[in-house]
Amino acid sequence: MQTIGVLGGMSWESSLEWYRLANERVRERLGGHHSAKIVLDSVDFAEVEAMQVRGDWDAAGDLLADRARALESAGAELLVLCTNTMHLVAERIQDAVGIPFLHIGDVAAEAVRRAGVSTVGLLGTAFTMEQPFYRDRLAEHGIRALVPDADDRLAVHTIIYDELVHGEIREESRERYREVIDRLVAQGAEGVILGCTEIELLVSSADAPVPVFPTTALHVAAAVDRALGDV
Ligand code: GLU
Repeated sequence: MQTIGVLGGMSWESSLEWYRLANERVRERLGGHHSAKIVLDSVDFAEVEAMQVRGDWDAAGDLLADRARALESAGAELLVLCTNTMHLVAERIQDAVGIPFLHIGDVAAEAVRRAGVSTVGLLGTAFTMEQPFYRDRLAEHGIRALVPDADDRLAVHTIIYDELVHGEIREESRERYREVIDRLVAQGAEGVILGCTEIELLVSSADAPVPVFPTTALHVAAAVDRALGDV
């Protein structure tokens, strides 16, 4: 089993989930007392969030590239970044290390393709929904991503930053997400990517009339399977 380098803390609420799910998957696959081999580097999210608000993606790229190098030095053989948003600087991170980097957008796209879906709704932070990096990555896999309108994007983004990253799960926010999902489906979405690692703490397949693609769970499954030698 390879050691997975986990670049987390964005937010720790979802990294905790990542860690738990990874260990559960190794236990499911290997049984006995087996657990995941992980080195974790967890950043102070306030620093990253301030860079996002300033639009200082260079500084964010430098910070995460530095942490990725630390993970490689600590023995990581495979690298994951536990946030969709910060994949905006994925190239910087990937270039900083010699170990493989498992892009969360590729993992999501692969799951969407396997489900036979070609048009999805994309929920995430404003950065993920509005900047091209994530939709472009999906497009490389032949997947078209629809995003909510401006009011709905603001609601989706605000619920992430004001509630979910603080571990607050509110029924009224779940209802708001359901409304957003229904509108995306009415526009033609055949599935919905939960393209922010905290959203699946709030929303599940029970909240959508179409398949949902939870990026934390999918990313974990892909990383663990790779670490266990699956291609
Ligand atoms: N975890 C989130 C994501 O997957 C948002 C927090 C962040 O900005 O990194 O996009």
